[in-house]
Amino acid sequence: MSAGYAITTYKIQLNYKHLDWFKQTQSLFDAVLAFYYELLEKQPEALSLSNQNLLRHLELQTIKQRDGTPPETPLPFEKIPLYFRRAAINAAISMYRSYMGKLKAWQEGPIKSGKPSLPKCLHMSVLYYKGMYKDFDEKSILLKLYTGKTWAWVKHRYTGRPFPENAELMSPTIVIKKKKVMLHIPVKEIVEDSRTAKERVKQNEKFVAVALTGSDSLAVCTTIEADGRATTPYFIKGGKELAHRRKLLLGYTKRGIAGNDMTHTVGNAALSVPQEHRPNAKYYEKITRITDHYAHEVSRKIVDYAIKQGAKLIVLPELKESFNQAKKPYLGKTPYDFIGRRIARYVQYKAWRKGLVAMTSKPYYASTRCYHCDAPIARHNTEYQNPSANFYGGKNFVCKEGHRGSTALNSARNLGKGFYYKFYQGVA
Ligand SMILES: [Zn+2]
Repeated sequence: MSAGYAITTYKIQLNYKHLDWFKQTQSLFDAVLAFYYELLEKQPEALSLSNQNLLRHLELQTIKQRDGTPPETPLPFEKIPLYFRRAAINAAISMYRSYMGKLKAWQEGPIKSGKPSLPKCLHMSVLYYKGMYKDFDEKSILLKLYTGKTWAWVKHRYTGRPFPENAELMSPTIVIKKKKVMLHIPVKEIVEDSRTAKERVKQNEKFVAVALTGSDSLAVCTTIEADGRATTPYFIKGGKELAHRRKLLLGYTKRGIAGNDMTHTVGNAALSVPQEHRPNAKYYEKITRITDHYAHEVSRKIVDYAIKQGAKLIVLPELKESFNQAKKPYLGKTPYDFIGRRIARYVQYKAWRKGLVAMTSKPYYASTRCYHCDAPIARHNTEYQNPSANFYGGKNFVCKEGHRGSTALNSARNLGKGFYYKFYQGVA
C-alpha cells in the first residue's frame, strides 16, 4: 500500500513583548518587496524565466557578487538576511505574475470592461524560511525580528491546537492582525492508503458522486454501487440560509457611504477589491468567514457520507474557470460561485486525511440529460411553472418519458454514471 500526504495550515497565536518589532519587520519586508516589484516592472520579459532563475536573475542585478563585482541596481537596504530577501523577492515575483496573468486574460478575453488594476499596495505577510526561525518546539519558537535598528533573535511562547504526530512543519508565515500576531504553518501529514484513483477503480469499489449547486442543497451525493446502480441520495442543505446571511452582510457593507460617492465600490462589485481596501471591511471578512464555515461543514458531511457508505473514492464535477462563469449571470448571482470551488477543494484534503481519494470528472451533459433515459430535460421550480430547457436554476426536472425529480440529484447520478462507464467498463 502506498502512502501520500496532505497539507493543512495550522494557525497559532504568539505571545509577544514587542509588537512594534513585528511591525518593523513587516514594513521592511514590504519595502524590499516593493523594490523588487518595481524592478520587475521594468523587465516584464524576464517573466519567461522559471521562478528559481528569475530569483537568481534579480539577485545578480541587486546584490554584490562574491568576487566583489558591484550590482547594477543595488538593493537600497543594509543587512537584509539572505532568506528574508529571498522571501520578499518570491513575493514580488508572485504578485507581479498574478497581475500580468490577469492583464493577459483581460486582453485576450471577450469582455472589455474592468481592466485589472495595478496592485494598490505592495504588501504580503512575511514568509519565514529556514534561517529566520529556530528552536520550534511544542511551546515556543525563536524568530529573527527587525527592531528598527538591528536584527534580534526573540523567543515567543504560543497557543494553538497541537500539531499532529509525525507531521512535517513547513515554513511559517507571520500574520499581523491589529494586536494579534499569528503564525500560519503548513503542516504536511503522511496519509496511509493513498492508492491512486486508477488502482481503486480497477478493484471495482463503489464510489460517491457529488453535484454542487447554488440552490438550498449546496451538495447532493449519491453512491454508485460496484454494478453501476445509483443509490442512497443525500442532500446537504444550507444554501438558503447562507444566501440570506450573505445578503444581510452585503447590506451592512453599504452603511455610512453617501449615495453618490463613487470612489468606493460597494456590494457584490466590491468583492473584486482586495478585502483590506474596502469600506466596512469587517462585514466582508464576516462574509468570507461564514462562506468558509459552510464550505467546511458541507465538505465534512460529504466525506462522512462516503465513509458511512463504505466508499473510498469521491467524484466531484470538474468546475470550469471562473472567467467563463462570469459570463453566465445565472451562476454569478448564486452562492455557488463563491462556495462550490471551496467545497471541492476542502473535500479533496479532508478525503486525503481520512484515507479516501477525491477526484474530479468532466460533467458532460450531466445537467442537461435525464439519468434514466438520456433524453434532454426541462427544469422548473414549482408545479405551476412551465418546465423549460433553459431554466438552469430550476430545482426539479422532467423529461419527455415522464421521469422527474431533483435536478441536482440527476446531475450527481449522471456524473457517477459517466465516470462509471468511462473507467469501470474499460477495466471490467
Ligand atoms: Zn427520462
